[in-house]
Amino acid sequence: MIRLKTGEEIEILRENAILVSKTLAEVGKAVKPGVTTRQLNDLAETYIRDNGAVPGFLNYEGFPYSLCISVNDTVVHGFPSDYVLKEGDLVSVDCGTVYKGYNGDSAYTFPVGEISPEDARLLEVTKKSLRLGAQMAVAGNRIGDIGHTIQDFCEAEGFSVVRELVGHGIGTRLHESPEVPNYGRPGQGKKLVEGMVICIEPMINAGTRHVYVDDNEWSVRTVDGKNSAHFEYMVAIRHDGPQVLTTFEYIENNK
Ligand code: MG
Ligand code: MG
Repeated sequence: MIRLKTGEEIEILRENAILVSKTLAEVGKAVKPGVTTRQLNDLAETYIRDNGAVPGFLNYEGFPYSLCISVNDTVVHGFPSDYVLKEGDLVSVDCGTVYKGYNGDSAYTFPVGEISPEDARLLEVTKKSLRLGAQMAVAGNRIGDIGHTIQDFCEAEGFSVVRELVGHGIGTRLHESPEVPNYGRPGQGKKLVEGMVICIEPMINAGTRHVYVDDNEWSVRTVDGKNSAHFEYMVAIRHDGPQVLTTFEYIENNK
């Protein structure tokens, strides 16, 4: 069942969205060669708690950390660790909050120092596919219109779309209906309705789309070991069009 949100609920979701956006910017300031992913996790947890919220991922279905930190060939659900970031890495950071009983959820993939031109293109294409997909989040459109737009754009650029993991509705629970795949056919799937709030989160691979789950039973990695990128927005479907509740401005204006 899809739970539609009132204007008041969307405002609380927006507060969460702003907090995850600001937390990602704090993490982004610390991303550099020599830093461990555990340090990034710890500073995010402190920032979230200092703002009166709780990390949304910590203990979610047993996930043991506040952030998912996924380096290079790890697509999503990476564990923060003693891994030391090095020049040329891609580090995807996925952040959740719980505040006033509602959730926030957003992700950004950061370059560590100078990255290769191909990796820079992977980041740009994935981020642009998210913007294009979000533009399709219009009442009357279908879920498939979002996924098709993302898939079409990324595949035309020579990249591949992970199928096993998808976006989702969000509200009092982190993952609500409907599922929001990053692939699909135009005009197919559930109809988008005013009051839906969804997370759109393309996971795009440089090589094959196929993935496997690491021995830690969480981290999803590319089968061919090539890099992957992940960006995520929370989007409310309003009468006057899609409203992106999260923002990357705190990250990108910090540089
Ligand atoms: Mg997320
Ligand atoms: Mg999500």
